Amino acid sequence: MTRNTSHHPVPADAAERRAIKPVICYPNETLPVPDLALYREARNGAEKTGEVLVPPRDAACFEVPAGHFFRISSVEGSQVGDLNLWNREDLSERFYSGKSRALHGTHLTTGERMWTSFPYLRPMATIIEDTLDWYGMDDYGGSVHDVIGTRCDPYTGNLLAGSQYHHCCHSNLTRALADHLGLSLEEAEPHVHDVLNVFMCTGFTRDTGQYFMKASPVRPGDYLEFFAEIDLLGALSACPGGDCSAEHSSDTAACFPLLVETFAPARGALEGWSSPAANGYDRSHGR
Ligand SMILES: [Zn+2]
Repeated sequence: MTRNTSHHPVPADAAERRAIKPVICYPNETLPVPDLALYREARNGAEKTGEVLVPPRDAACFEVPAGHFFRISSVEGSQVGDLNLWNREDLSERFYSGKSRALHGTHLTTGERMWTSFPYLRPMATIIEDTLDWYGMDDYGGSVHDVIGTRCDPYTGNLLAGSQYHHCCHSNLTRALADHLGLSLEEAEPHVHDVLNVFMCTGFTRDTGQYFMKASPVRPGDYLEFFAEIDLLGALSACPGGDCSAEHSSDTAACFPLLVETFAPARGALEGWSSPAANGYDRSHGR
């Protein structure tokens, strides 16, 4: 079945209905604007505090205090990464891919933010540098760093191909979180959530609306850098899809590590900034 298969008569005013101009669901002019100049100035004087090299087809965790920075870099070869973020003090507050998409669009870049789940709905990380921002939107409707995909996982592979593959991002993130927090796999798995697809080049086909991927334009030396708005626990998986030019959920693609580095600003460099409060809705839900 495709989007172009019709079983019902076309109404006389079909062309007029289709010609109606779209309206933006969530006009974002009223979103609180991050002070990028302040963040960048603080970043300039920041000192490196640590790094973790995420092995290919595996994941690793890292922690970033509120007001610090982290950078995800391509090293050795084109590789995409699946990023999960949690409030370090409360795993129930975690990245909300769907709402971040609704607020910013299908792909994130500099000045845009990763937002947390209900009832918090606050910025958890702000992108302050994106060396792939030149890519824009290509002729296929593809762009980089999407919030439209999920994370590759063994359940979908099993559904579509009957496979038992253990190094999808979902499993990598589950193992990394379990090891980092001393949890069992059963305890860790429900905390894994839909990701920011770092460096991945994706879109939806115009004719069928299907999710597509293509070879990532990322090259060694490229990076995406974030400001931590709250205390963060992060987990990054170096996707078994490598640059995602052909397939994922198998061991066939060439895969490379990803580097995560953390940085602390100089004392007093964030004068005037404070970690955002949880959402102001009173939660009475009409009662
Ligand atoms: Zn993946």
